[in-house]
Amino acid sequence: MEYRCARCHAKFSVEGGEVAHACPRCKAEAGLDPVMRKVPLPMVLFGAFLSVALVATVVGGILSRGGG
Ligand SMILES: [Zn+2]
Repeated sequence: MEYRCARCHAKFSVEGGEVAHACPRCKAEAGLDPVMRKVPLPMVLFGAFLSVALVATVVGGILSRGGG
């Protein structure tokens, strides 16, 4: 199970089935968020947006070069 510390943003993992009690880096006992394996939807949308922006940039560059 992977956790992320909300205080120092350190990512760490504990043995399967165990629960994290404190951050190994800053020793914070609160704000340990379990990291989900699934990619959150906002990240998927952001990735899709980046892909579209990249394609638009490449196509725009080709079009502007060809039209000159
Ligand atoms: Zn920490």
